[in-house]
Amino acid sequence: MGWLDAWKAGFARNAKKAIPDGVWVKCEGKGADAQLGCGKTLYRRDLEENLWVCPSCGFHMRIGAHAYLDLLLDEGTAEPLFETVMSADPLRFKAEKRYGDQILEDFRRTGRGSAFMAVSGAICGRPFAVGAMDFSFRGGSLGSAEGEKINRLIGFAQERGVPLVIVSQSGGARMQEAALSLMQMAKTSARLAEFAETSLPFISILTSPTTGGVTASFAMLGDVILAEPGALIGFAGARVRETIKEDLPPGFQRAEFLLEHGFVDRVVDRRNLKEEVARLTNVLAPV
Ligand SMILES: [Zn+2]
Repeated sequence: MGWLDAWKAGFARNAKKAIPDGVWVKCEGKGADAQLGCGKTLYRRDLEENLWVCPSCGFHMRIGAHAYLDLLLDEGTAEPLFETVMSADPLRFKAEKRYGDQILEDFRRTGRGSAFMAVSGAICGRPFAVGAMDFSFRGGSLGSAEGEKINRLIGFAQERGVPLVIVSQSGGARMQEAALSLMQMAKTSARLAEFAETSLPFISILTSPTTGGVTASFAMLGDVILAEPGALIGFAGARVRETIKEDLPPGFQRAEFLLEHGFVDRVVDRRNLKEEVARLTNVLAPV
């Protein structure tokens, strides 16, 4: 079985496995979201049906790229794109671990060659180009492979004349690729500027967490920027307080705060994302 066939076979299977198995799941955030969630123990199947939104407090638990593609696209329409573009270690970077080994480790664990999944498919019957970053591969960071796939996905949308959707979930630029990684910010931004001339809409969806170089480039360049409730969205992280020596307002990097301050256009419940994307696209670019 080739790489592409294996990917396709895993697509449906993995879509439902974004969160580890177990009958009961506690409503609690991880990492930067650790203070979120109501702590209630929930029945896994109920949560799955509710797209991993806590029925009690509305906390949006972290789900992966597969799950987002699954919830956005019409069933059976997703076709993977550019899967031969995979992360590499051009600088032979080594810190505590060899970067090459880390890529291999993530590849074995996730079955993916990069932190970005690109597909063509349909949303409410209309063809779309859709991409999603995945935190489970190198923290969803933006490296050369991710930048190249995003670039190609934008090109694909342009050639086919279809709207573009990108779901972001990222720790930022991938430090192990140094300047090559930072260059992806310019590369994707320049490509989106070209795309903007087509008058096709680009809808950017920010999920928790969206930070660093991703926030500083394509994620904030959507014609419409949507965010999930409570999502952590920022550039430098709360530790910047030590640098600027000023107190930060409460919740300053959460979706609702950014909505209030004009960085985000709308905070949308995950369960309504698909309809919202379809509705906005029909307003911006009627068929
Ligand atoms: Zn809860």
